Amino acid sequence: MTALVALTSVTKEYPGGVVAVRDVSLRVDRGELVAIVGPSGSGKSTVLHMVGTLDRPSSGTVEIDGYDVAAMPDRGLAALRATRIGFVFQQFHLASGVTALDAVADGLLYAGVRRAARLERARSTLEQVGLGHRLRHRPHELSGGERQRVAIARAVVGSPPLVLADEPTGNLDSASGAAVLALLRDLHAAGTTVLVITHDREIAESLPRRVEFRDGRILHDTAGV
Ligand code: ADP
Repeated sequence: MTALVALTSVTKEYPGGVVAVRDVSLRVDRGELVAIVGPSGSGKSTVLHMVGTLDRPSSGTVEIDGYDVAAMPDRGLAALRATRIGFVFQQFHLASGVTALDAVADGLLYAGVRRAARLERARSTLEQVGLGHRLRHRPHELSGGERQRVAIARAVVGSPPLVLADEPTGNLDSASGAAVLALLRDLHAAGTTVLVITHDREIAESLPRRVEFRDGRILHDTAGV
């Protein structure tokens, strides 16, 4: 079966000569929950951005769901991202003044879903993340943990098969961080493939697979490939 994510000999050099990722090959199958770990500057975010098709490699290939990202036109990539990938970042990127319900419903703008249906799915997704009582709240009326849960709801409202999370618990207290991690585990249990960058050793060690980066390379992969 085709891997959901396949990086083959991927190198990424930024303008100015920084080689952030060197000759990385990584395969993630459907349904995996993978921790991406390693010190700051080791290339984790760069890899996640390439997996998310937000950035292209300097050499090597990135395939998502069997599609070679380099061979796709920008419109095709935008469609791939909108329908197959949900992003959760450390900074929550919620527009001020927009209610939780509208913020999550907007996650379906490109999915061809009518407004009433968007709002209904947004409501049920917010309920799933425990925010059924915060539908009309705006970002400044929510705690950091609640904002991050809104961001997760927005990322997953379209049921993407792949969710990418870059330090999703980095700005949260430990209780809120645990709740966010529990959500990612729920997604995984429901069949979603999840890649999560984390600095938190305890979180990483609790996940089924860990891929450790050092100096732009994979130092160790508990999947043994
Ligand atoms: P990590 O996520 O592990 O902290 P990054 O992927 O963010 O690592 O960064 C890897 C290396 O690439 C670092 O040396 C960083 O400074 C560099 N880098 C990251 N993004 C850029 C960019 N947009 N332009 C130039 N260099 C970058």
